[in-house]
Amino acid sequence: VDSKAKKPEWLKIKLTTGDNYKEIKEMMRSKTLHTVCEEAKCPNIYECWANRTATFMILGDICTRACRFCAVKTGLPTELDLQEPERVAEAAAQMNLQHAVITSVARDDLKDGGASIFAATVKAVRERLPLCSVEVLIPDFMGEESSLRIVMDAKPDILNHNIETVERMSNRVRAKAKYKRSLQLLQRAKAMNPNIPTKSSIMLGVGEEWNEIIQAMEDLRAVDCNIMTIGQYLQPTKQHLDVVRFYPPEEFAVLKEEGMKRGFSHVESGPFVRSSYHAHEQVQSAQQH
Ligand code: SF4
Ligand code: SF4
Repeated sequence: VDSKAKKPEWLKIKLTTGDNYKEIKEMMRSKTLHTVCEEAKCPNIYECWANRTATFMILGDICTRACRFCAVKTGLPTELDLQEPERVAEAAAQMNLQHAVITSVARDDLKDGGASIFAATVKAVRERLPLCSVEVLIPDFMGEESSLRIVMDAKPDILNHNIETVERMSNRVRAKAKYKRSLQLLQRAKAMNPNIPTKSSIMLGVGEEWNEIIQAMEDLRAVDCNIMTIGQYLQPTKQHLDVVRFYPPEEFAVLKEEGMKRGFSHVESGPFVRSSYHAHEQVQSAQQH
């Protein structure tokens, strides 16, 4: 039975921000760029930006889908900004990033789902910052293999696609996506280029059971997914899915062990873990494997 859980003490932290943070924020606005770090009010923003990691959201800020955990606006996007890849690269260079994560809203209105803009962004960042690793966190492109290929051909350092939740909860949490289609995307990516590490993420607290989390790990390993991140779902507004359970840090630690036992090269698991948290270290661990 779903019920509403109360926010525990370990999630009540104070956000610390510094001068550097303000400066970067202004730069983002001047380039009309969106970062997930800001839009999702990510609790790790200070740490990540100080560690020269940021997540850019390309292809506008209006999504054609409406997942019930996500705070991004829903609607019919109009934007297709061909200069955006260049501006992302400029911003990445100004921040002197070590690790850039490129993600987007779902653009089911575009023929290639925005894949070519992803590819152009990877290339633009590479040109300006050859030492910066580039991770793409892509939508499912409605299962279009040709769109995935466009992204894979740009050779990102990490190909990330989130299953977001366990199989049973998928319909409820992200109605327009499909658990199996997401696994298939990861499998295809690996088949297209086995040298590019793949990565996926789930959030806990929407009503899943422990054995279903383990099953999700096994499903990811069955398609040779290399990196997994596990975090706590936090309700962005009262209109979004309720949090059914807050997992204590100890359980996240146990899940990390369970994942490592199953052969992931890296598992990042904790209440504040987001898909791109400590992402730079994940690149290194995946390359060592
Ligand atoms: Fe940004 Fe990801 Fe870090 Fe959050 S975890 S601040 S979204 S890079
Ligand atoms: Fe949010 Fe992505 Fe779902 Fe769109 S597809 S509503 S951006 S989680």
